[in-house]
Amino acid sequence: MTTYISLNHGSGGRASQQLISKMFLKYFNNEYLNQLTDSAIIESEKSHFAFTTDGYVVEPIFFPGGNIGKLAVCGTVNDLAVTGAIPKFLSTSFIIEEGFSMDDLEKIVATMSHEARQTGVSIVTGDTKVVPKGKCDKIFISTAGIGILPETYRWIASGRKVKIGDKLIINGTVGDHSIAILSARESLQFESSIISDCAPLNHLIQQALDICPDIAFMRDVTRGGLATVVNELAEMTGLGIMLHENSIPVNENTMGICELFGFDPLYLANEGKVLMVVPSEKATEVVNCLKKNEYGKQAAIIGEVVEQHPSKVVLETITGGKRLLEMPTGVLLPRIC
Ligand code: MG
Repeated sequence: MTTYISLNHGSGGRASQQLISKMFLKYFNNEYLNQLTDSAIIESEKSHFAFTTDGYVVEPIFFPGGNIGKLAVCGTVNDLAVTGAIPKFLSTSFIIEEGFSMDDLEKIVATMSHEARQTGVSIVTGDTKVVPKGKCDKIFISTAGIGILPETYRWIASGRKVKIGDKLIINGTVGDHSIAILSARESLQFESSIISDCAPLNHLIQQALDICPDIAFMRDVTRGGLATVVNELAEMTGLGIMLHENSIPVNENTMGICELFGFDPLYLANEGKVLMVVPSEKATEVVNCLKKNEYGKQAAIIGEVVEQHPSKVVLETITGGKRLLEMPTGVLLPRIC
């Protein structure tokens, strides 16, 4: 490991993985944490719980399509929902810089309340700390969440049900969140109509589970983008993944800005996207179900689990070529969520 923490350690990519395995897992090591699932799955006498936590440091705190409070609720709800759990309770902890506007705080808190109602979770506990001016940047929020996990979905988070032939599905365009944040940054003023995809996915996921209880795996596609999540899937299952670039939905404007800045949308962050792995014969039915939900209108089958290249992801490009799609090694944009 390096001597100092760098921005790369917060990227969600390879450096983040190393920090987790060589620092946090080394000391916190236990059977629940070691699974590295979106939420820990905890057994009690009668049932299973999903339990997760996240910190939000997005800059700027207000951006097209949302604000830090919307991210804080949706991000934690989505981490619970992708395990198959029904999100129930959230905690929220605010670290606020002295001098922060009370009006802005109220906007953020009102958004959190709205999102909590929309998703059906209750914010049941919280904490507030204020630090002297200059000791944090405006406001940071941490939320933890608990959901109830039906026995049927016990293994979704683990990926152990994934098999060769299964199809990969995404519920819409990739990369919009990163571009929305980028366009909102004062230092990078350019015109963009792109809004963040930040959204709670628990109802969409529940609808998909209702028609296809044997969804083999789900993960929300956040920091590090689709390329990261698909690589995590390949590594955790030891199976090969083939992605088809021309099937992956990308907003035309997002693509335009990616070309301008030299970004690959497959590595950009999302806040309202879920990757699903489903048995081949159910794939079309699941896509049609997702399309009926407002957060799944552009859902598509984007690839499949294959026998070739175990633990690796291969992208069939728009031009028909094939290349290895690797895990990102550096940070593209810090403080994206
Ligand atoms: Mg996640």
